[in-house]
Amino acid sequence: MSILGVSTLSDAVVDQLAYGAKNYFEMEELVKKSGEVIAYYLNAEAAIITNSASAAIALAVAGLITKKDKMLVDKLHDKNYKTNGEIIVMKGHNINYGAPVEVMIRLGGAEVKEVGYSNMCSADQVQAAITNETVGFLYVKSHHCVQKNMPSIDQVQEVCHRNGIPLLIDAAAEEDIHSYASLGDLVIFSGSKAIEGPTSGILAGKKQYIDYSFPHLKGIGRAMKVGKESIFGLLTALENYESTKQSVDFQTEKLKPLYKLSEIKGISVTCINDEAGRDICRGRIMVNEKEANRHAVEVVNELKNGEVAIYTRDYHATEGHFDIDPRSVTKDDILLITRRIEEIVGEAHEVKS
Ligand SMILES: *Cc1c(COP(=O)(O)O)cnc(C)c1O
Repeated sequence: MSILGVSTLSDAVVDQLAYGAKNYFEMEELVKKSGEVIAYYLNAEAAIITNSASAAIALAVAGLITKKDKMLVDKLHDKNYKTNGEIIVMKGHNINYGAPVEVMIRLGGAEVKEVGYSNMCSADQVQAAITNETVGFLYVKSHHCVQKNMPSIDQVQEVCHRNGIPLLIDAAAEEDIHSYASLGDLVIFSGSKAIEGPTSGILAGKKQYIDYSFPHLKGIGRAMKVGKESIFGLLTALENYESTKQSVDFQTEKLKPLYKLSEIKGISVTCINDEAGRDICRGRIMVNEKEANRHAVEVVNELKNGEVAIYTRDYHATEGHFDIDPRSVTKDDILLITRRIEEIVGEAHEVKS
């Protein structure tokens, strides 16, 4: 969704954005207080609002590099001072979510130490990778990551705690905002993805570690500053989060018109649960190239290039299927998408006959 601007805001959120924009605040106080509110919603001890999840990763890492030494905050990235350390990340988690996660780690001042292979990693390998230079371990919870043959969060948490290494969890796009703070020492969320707030990010976690990151708001974090309007918008989005969350039943109901497409030769539609285990069901459109006279990749591209650009979840289009995510579309949108797929495949049939 990031390529389409991530999410849309509710009227309540926009109203509070305007409130924040139109008034003055004692900013230090606002940053501190808003952090406390965020922490409350996430079941964390403390939190900081940033302008993106990427910024939250960098800020978390910067804090782990400088720890209590506030003087080093001004010397981050300065080779004349001891401002280095390594963050361990599993190779299958070293992803590009639109930008490489490793760049954000380096932005925070740490080296990136990959562990495991592109298709597997074990808790023992994680243990073996830890050295005196290790300042943290980053677990990326995302559909972009390799899912199979990877240790669970519980397993890496056990290794981290045994070695006194803080566990960071990048849960940027996760729907479950309540559980991760109890699993990780620091957790990262996007404010605009599942939470559907304005462009923003959240760094939350144990107070000790948030306290390490806090001084960086007057260092590297200045380049990641979040505006007062975004703070008010995000708080409102969080306040309304549970009430606006769509149940799987609601999503399934919304997708119903899509099933009509199964009547077309070469097309079949099923409902697929989210691969990362979130409460999302998506409509999967399977395109049998021979029967439909179109490859799924062609259908996906034509959808993008129509009068209304329709973006699908097309990571597997080369394998012959793509998904429709119901969360950010209305029932009318689903009807439009259905008609457009009918048109595209209908034309293909005409060409053939
Ligand atoms: C989207 C995403 C990010 C980055 O979020 P921004 O707010 O756009 O910086 C980081 N990590 C993961 C896993 C993501 O999905």
